[in-house]
Amino acid sequence: MPAQMEKSLTAGALPEQEKAETPALGLYLHVPFCATTCEYCAFFQVRPEGDDLGRFLRDIDTELALVPGLLPVQTVFWGGGTPGLLPAKHLAELCASVRGKLVAAPLEWSVEMAPGTVTRDRLAALRDGGVTRISLGVQSLQPGLLEALGRRHSREQALRAYELVRAAGFASVNLDLIFAVPGQDSECWIRDLEAAIALAPDHISTYCLTFEEDTALFVKLSQGKVKPDAEKEAAFYEATWDTLGSAGFAQYEISNYARPGHACRHNLATWGMQEWLGFGPAAASQHGGWRYQNPPNLPAWRDDIAAGRRGTAERVALCPELLAADALIFGLRCNAGVDLAVTQRRFPAPAWPGYRALAARLVGEGLGEWAAPEVLRLTRRGRLLADSVGTAVLEV
Ligand code: SF4
Repeated sequence: MPAQMEKSLTAGALPEQEKAETPALGLYLHVPFCATTCEYCAFFQVRPEGDDLGRFLRDIDTELALVPGLLPVQTVFWGGGTPGLLPAKHLAELCASVRGKLVAAPLEWSVEMAPGTVTRDRLAALRDGGVTRISLGVQSLQPGLLEALGRRHSREQALRAYELVRAAGFASVNLDLIFAVPGQDSECWIRDLEAAIALAPDHISTYCLTFEEDTALFVKLSQGKVKPDAEKEAAFYEATWDTLGSAGFAQYEISNYARPGHACRHNLATWGMQEWLGFGPAAASQHGGWRYQNPPNLPAWRDDIAAGRRGTAERVALCPELLAADALIFGLRCNAGVDLAVTQRRFPAPAWPGYRALAARLVGEGLGEWAAPEVLRLTRRGRLLADSVGTAVLEV
């Protein structure tokens, strides 16, 4: 991805990947281990047993070797699960494996860490291994809410983890926060935001709590113990925009805010329908004309890679129709909006007259506006209804 993308993230600017003619390439690695399961978790993760962690390194080496040659990767992202559950020695080995697969050092290399796993030696292993960005899963700094979310760390641990990450000298640090948690009111959320701002991170991600099937929270929802409140959620969104905006964090996507130069390049490339290769169980890829996923199951993934197979789940051939719709859905969630002319040229689907009619309708209804003659972006009201806008794109 072009280096200048970093500068393009003030509202109204067009992300560079939307202009790019050659797709950028990212590498995603899913570390599928967590010590316990959070109440709201819908990600694929298991509790490690026996030699699972050591074996994971060997399995990743096997999977990396299934993709021929060195990869011209611009961004790397390790998510999970909890990558920080790996001991420092394993983290250093995993960094070396990934580095050994790349043509050159990536422009950005992010690793998600849970506060309870942050130690000096793990951070040193990651930093020395080439990692440039740590995303710390703080979620809340209120003890009661951390308990409601089923998180294992305390407020003090989160603050200490942040201090250690900063002291280790990474180029960029993100804090993940969650809002609309049962029992949380606006004042309580603003207190969390202000506490996060006071730490002076480079990036803040704020996620609205969702009730995904097969989670402990979903069970509580079906028992009537908790319930979502759309009006309250909208108030949380607006409070977030105002609080973070006035503290110098520009929103560049519905859930993401950054100081200048610190937007997450990997995620921007993904939303801009660039290409990425995913490794590890449940990891998705979009590459070479296909979108696919590794099985979200540790033994099935191991069997696949032992047999020389990758991406055997959810295989879909990429076509202009699919990519145009997704470029609009994800692009409109970004504050910069979507250049319709560029996107139509990249993905010339028959639905474009319908997309243009939808654009006119969104502007007419006050949900969209023209940032430039061909650049459609959502208004503040439109961003509150971004999910409905996405549905409207799919209905064209
Ligand atoms: S740390 Fe993340 S992946 Fe692990 S259980 Fe909690 S939400 Fe899920």
